[in-house]
Amino acid sequence: MKPELTNIDVLFAGAHPDDIELSAGGTVANLTLEGKKVVIVDFTRGELGTRGSGATRIKESQEAANILGVHERINLRLPDGYIKADDESILKAIRFIRKYRPKIVVMNPEYERHPDHEAVHKIIRSAMFKSGLIRIITKDNGKKQEPFRTRTMLSYQQAYSFHKNPDLIVDISDTFEIKMNAIKAYSSQVYVAGKSDPNGPVTRLSRPEFLEELKSRAIYFGTLIGCRYAEPFLSIELVGLKSLSAMLLKEKKLTK
Ligand SMILES: [Zn+2]
Repeated sequence: MKPELTNIDVLFAGAHPDDIELSAGGTVANLTLEGKKVVIVDFTRGELGTRGSGATRIKESQEAANILGVHERINLRLPDGYIKADDESILKAIRFIRKYRPKIVVMNPEYERHPDHEAVHKIIRSAMFKSGLIRIITKDNGKKQEPFRTRTMLSYQQAYSFHKNPDLIVDISDTFEIKMNAIKAYSSQVYVAGKSDPNGPVTRLSRPEFLEELKSRAIYFGTLIGCRYAEPFLSIELVGLKSLSAMLLKEKKLTK
């Protein structure tokens, strides 16, 4: 049996396999290249997608996880299209938060086109608060879990633009290619020459132009901080720094 995992650096939560890659794949790769422990939690298999199937997307998501170098990727197998921020889902989230004890949690945005994205945001926010309450009892493999809470929570950007400037923009110039390769692992969804089914139904994601859109978006956010490619985030709470030296690192990277 695997040893119990604790103290993961960053946990990325997404409603569907590929949410993380499309919105924060470069940020994930930055962390894993720095030797940080990253876990991805997908809430559904994405089985309502027009192309591919739940089984195919699980396989693709594992391939993408390998490309990104994440420690572990789990899938809660909730029903795609019908995720509810109910007690059952929140308890599931409390269990994985207490199990992994992440220092940072990154999730779907609060205001989004797909209802599942908003539902995951609500579930994580609620679970993060409740996970710190000692009187909410949960078990993992029969063992009582310790309470845990982090205040460092971010949302990535999906279909809708943020209603204000991002709170953080991460330079992914060094990992943009890794991000795109992880996205191309989902060849049932996005266009990959010679791999995608040319006779499948056409969707927004399956057109070759979609990958250009992603690149344009990364370039746009890159221009805002003076680098080639970047990914934007909103922070739920204000971001505090222990020292301005964290910004010296930023300066060094952006001007090299
Ligand atoms: Zn999604």
